[in-house]
Amino acid sequence: MITTIGFPFDDHSSFLRGPAKGPAAIRKAFHSPSSNYFSETGTDLQDHLSLVDVGDLDLSDTQKIIEKISKKVEEIVKKSSKIVCLGGDHSITYPIIKGVSAHYDNLNILHIDAHADVYDDFEGNKFSHACPFARIMESKLAKRLVQVGIRTLNDHQRNQIKKFGIETIEMRDWTDHHKLKFDGPLYISLDMDAFDPAYAPGVSHHEPGGFTTRQVISLIQNLEANIIGADIVELNPDRDVNGITATLAAKMYKEIHAKMINPKTRDD
Ligand code: MN
Ligand code: MN
Repeated sequence: MITTIGFPFDDHSSFLRGPAKGPAAIRKAFHSPSSNYFSETGTDLQDHLSLVDVGDLDLSDTQKIIEKISKKVEEIVKKSSKIVCLGGDHSITYPIIKGVSAHYDNLNILHIDAHADVYDDFEGNKFSHACPFARIMESKLAKRLVQVGIRTLNDHQRNQIKKFGIETIEMRDWTDHHKLKFDGPLYISLDMDAFDPAYAPGVSHHEPGGFTTRQVISLIQNLEANIIGADIVELNPDRDVNGITATLAAKMYKEIHAKMINPKTRDD
């Protein structure tokens, strides 16, 4: 079973608020009659027996957010084994991985983002949306972290990447048909600003020079991996244009689900 849950939280955003409205916008786009429920690869997600959506976690009381999210995720993964999380800003990924790693040893993470999000702290906040992968790596919650789409590294972040042994494929080095292969369970963390702002204007941090829609879809479809969890974060509906970015997030939601249900690649 694959359980969807939303985390409407953006208190750890450093620049703009808005991603708390992400889960509702993604669900609305997913259920919009402007498209159907089929993935490109032929999986019908409408009333699919292995999918459930438990709605949003109530995070209106912002005390103990990390404990609340990680406890809930742990509970879901115990029951359902696989999870898809809708954000929310990227700070939610640290508590999500805390919950997921309670059930999966040797966890791999594929992080798709314009930013490495490995600051030791950002403007005094250790749990900023600019820090989750520093917290994950120093807590040794993942055996392997691969980052793609990255195009904003400063010296501090390069040092952090070296220190934690992160495999960062910078956007300037990306080539299409780059096949990514993972042994053991894989969690995908998709920050919507990994896409070029031309494709995804509805994010807080516009960083030019990013992925096309097709590049990220192909990357997911060509993965050789057993995906046990994913998040789609940093959609900021306040910045979106005609729901383009919400529709893209919903499409990624479909393609990631389809790949979780049927991990085969075209070459298998
Ligand atoms: Mn991010
Ligand atoms: Mn980002």
